[in-house]
Amino acid sequence: MRIPARGKSKDDVLAAVESFRAQDVPWRGGKLFAYVYDAGRDVEEVGKRAYTAYLSENGLDVTAFPSLLKMENDVIAMARAHLRGGDDVVGSFTSGGTESIILACKTARDFMMETRGITAPEMVFPTTAHAAFHKAAHYLGIKVVTVDVDPGTFRAVPQAMAAAINANTVLMVGSAPSYAHGVIDPIRELAAVAAQKGLPFHVDGCIGGFVLPYFKRLGQDVEDFDFSVPGVWSISMDLHKYAYCPKGASVVLYKDKDYRRHQIFACSQWTGYTMVNPTVQSSRTGGPVAAAWAVMNFLGEDGYLRLAEGLLSATRRVVEGLGSIAGLRVLGKPAMCLVAFAADGASVFHLADEMKERGWHIHPQMAFGSSPQNLHLTVQPSNVPHVDALLKDLQLATDAARALESGAGEQMAAFIRQKLEENPGPAALNELMGMVGASGDGGLPGRMAVINEILNALPRHLSEVMVREFVNMMFTPTR
Ligand SMILES: *Cc1c(COP(=O)(O)O)cnc(C)c1O
Repeated sequence: MRIPARGKSKDDVLAAVESFRAQDVPWRGGKLFAYVYDAGRDVEEVGKRAYTAYLSENGLDVTAFPSLLKMENDVIAMARAHLRGGDDVVGSFTSGGTESIILACKTARDFMMETRGITAPEMVFPTTAHAAFHKAAHYLGIKVVTVDVDPGTFRAVPQAMAAAINANTVLMVGSAPSYAHGVIDPIRELAAVAAQKGLPFHVDGCIGGFVLPYFKRLGQDVEDFDFSVPGVWSISMDLHKYAYCPKGASVVLYKDKDYRRHQIFACSQWTGYTMVNPTVQSSRTGGPVAAAWAVMNFLGEDGYLRLAEGLLSATRRVVEGLGSIAGLRVLGKPAMCLVAFAADGASVFHLADEMKERGWHIHPQMAFGSSPQNLHLTVQPSNVPHVDALLKDLQLATDAARALESGAGEQMAAFIRQKLEENPGPAALNELMGMVGASGDGGLPGRMAVINEILNALPRHLSEVMVREFVNMMFTPTR
């Protein structure tokens, strides 16, 4: 594509943009268990109107746009009270969980380098911590030390975490809950270990921080994970997940301003304006913060509790229903509304394909450490009315998957591995795409079982090589 020689009409370009959607995964029907946290048309409308109202304003300089400062301070105040933070707790509004996590890691790194003279920073987290911590470590030059979790509960083991700490450790992390299994790490014990060693401790509440307090009020047994726990230095919590705000909305909270200071970047050593940024972005739209302010005030505690009630009862029915399908097995004890389940005697990859044939989008998770390959459900409000239909189709899909051959991908993986070891470039990817009958332009086959089996069977660093090659190929400018 080229910039057209003559501009097109407003109607034409907007109609074209709308038409592109036809290829996307349909997210409104309640059959998608990822990507979109759909609390209905009213919430969506409030978010979108507030977002577009502030789309042009720039958060680069809140002295020029005090409206954005006010809304951010309000949102952080609501988040702080929700997580039982006292008057000292402060925070920042960020673009998402990944940015909140990168900032929490940067703050810990700089605090420890400046106050303790550490020069080769490391951080300690369980294997169940979100991939964003690996990304943060990669971006920030921090060494990763991961620790195995309990193979039955998938929760971090405090003694094992303690044993991984050394003189270079700048941060320890726990999740509330983890994304993969939806279980809460023993935050109180972990924070005590960190406190005893004088270490910052971060709670990743990206997915659960917002909804867990509501589950607790509804009578669910939820272990404390917030600022009421001694030794918690920072918490990340996404608003674009279970607070149902438009995407581009998360918060990172810190125990006090002395600690948050290490997050802020300032630069006056160039020829332009004196730059000072609390977060990663510099120029940034005011849309997400206005939308978050609007949605949180629109839903209120009563709205969030009503939505949480639906999630809680739907998840209980899902867990119970999975238990009554022969061969399926829930991993760990889900603390919230994220459920991972394995299949015995059937391939989960075929099962995902069979569910897709029936209109459901459910993600497979690869085997790692003590966690077997499994399927993951992020139960969100639009799924709630469809639980019975989901369970019925899961039964049928499990029967269908059991009848299918599997293992072809494992043999291919051995071949791909050899190819990759000879030449770690795009050649192995082309080989793989040819083997599974995918087109060279990034079009994936409808059934993904063989590709998933290959990725599951490859050594982890080689599956990373493959998906990087794939993405490097996908993002090719149109001709
Ligand atoms: C979603 C998630 C993240 C990352 O958040 P993004 O908004 O996707 O960047 C981090 N931790 C957990 C537990 C999550 O579920």
